[in-house]
Amino acid sequence: MAVQTVATGTTAAAADLGPASGLSCRECGATVPLGPVFACVECFGPLEVAYDLPVGDPEALRKQIEAGPANIWRYAPLLPVPADVAEKPNLNPGWTKLVQADNLARELGVEQGKLFVKDDSGNPTHSFKDRVVAQAIEAARAFGFTTLSCSSTGNLAGAVGAAAARAGFRSCVFIPHDLEQGKVVMAGVYGGDLVAIEGNYDDVNRFCSELIGDPLGEGWGFVNVNLRPYYGEGSKTLAYEICEQLGWRLPDQLVIPIASGSQFTKIDKGLKELIKLGLVEDKPYKLFGAQAEGCSPVSVAYKGGHDVVRPQKPNTIAKSLAIGNPADGPYVLDIARRTGGAVEDVNDEQVVDAIKLLAQTEGIFAETAGGVTVGVTKKLIEAGLIDPSLTTVVLNTGDGLKTLDAVAESSQATATIRPSLEAFRDAGLAH
Ligand SMILES: *Cc1c(COP(=O)(O)O)cnc(C)c1O
Ligand SMILES: [Zn+2]
Repeated sequence: MAVQTVATGTTAAAADLGPASGLSCRECGATVPLGPVFACVECFGPLEVAYDLPVGDPEALRKQIEAGPANIWRYAPLLPVPADVAEKPNLNPGWTKLVQADNLARELGVEQGKLFVKDDSGNPTHSFKDRVVAQAIEAARAFGFTTLSCSSTGNLAGAVGAAAARAGFRSCVFIPHDLEQGKVVMAGVYGGDLVAIEGNYDDVNRFCSELIGDPLGEGWGFVNVNLRPYYGEGSKTLAYEICEQLGWRLPDQLVIPIASGSQFTKIDKGLKELIKLGLVEDKPYKLFGAQAEGCSPVSVAYKGGHDVVRPQKPNTIAKSLAIGNPADGPYVLDIARRTGGAVEDVNDEQVVDAIKLLAQTEGIFAETAGGVTVGVTKKLIEAGLIDPSLTTVVLNTGDGLKTLDAVAESSQATATIRPSLEAFRDAGLAH
């Protein structure tokens, strides 16, 4: 990968990103000022946002959060955003439903009242990606970018297009050429430029890394490349919301989908911050990662006992998770092992079955990524790795309307009849 460490926007000193104090290297701990950089100059390790967090008075902080808006900006004191972020033009994502899934629990053999689905299909562009893009936009504003870009497995392209339209940025996003129609249309409708690349996501990502290092991409904010440290922080809000919605309690077990692994690692970061701030009681929690068998580099490494993730060529209906060379894979392995969790995968047939199971028990229509998490939850319960007597939260990160093909064939009209009572009686459905 072409690594660029030199800022191309305005100087870092001008950036007001609230409690963010700088960037630190996840490998060697070196620190640098806030700027549009993503790799450490010392060791090329990934940079992440460091904070001056408001420690000391958890009761006051909890009250401040609870009095905030019903979106991710209630957590602005814990995010790399200016204090007046809620007044800027953005899509105000987050504060999605945490659904107590008693019907699904019964099907899976989980104790009543212990299973929850965090349903992020309720976000403005119907996936969790609105959370991460909202952070990246604030960084883009602070660093003076005027064009927003990304490499996307589908949902991110739509989230960037929509957020750019509302915030007044130009956008130009890159996707693999073979995505679902729902994802392509969602990415195109907001009026930015949409470029389909002849290749898979890893080809798209490599292309974007080259573009950043070239004059052609100068002045562009790639939300998941040169703005990646800020982008990633958006996933912490899932951890915050889940704990607040549980009554300021940590869940015991969380099942999280893995594409690049960013979301998984940042949920862990968010949970640790809540403990450090005294907003939740410190106790152990387990993080479980979920992949599709047709793109399971992290799950294969986990089960093989490896520390290194070997890239794969993706072939699965769970296209939003189809990253064959996941940047945060090794960190996911660390966290799954440290917390006592696991990483598991399910095949495409199990993904479809799980989408239908969730729809038919809870009335939630998940995209294929949600089928992956529900399917993996079922598998891990059966394997005895998820304890059915403890509180478990399963993430649904996207909307089934974007991946209709997965279930279209098996979800057709029960009968097609003439508009007459006789025809209806003959169809045998009046019982
Ligand atoms: C992007 C995405 C994820 C997770 O992505 P990470 O790169 O692992 O953070 C999960 N679900 C859906 C639907 C997505 O679009
Ligand atoms: Zn370093």
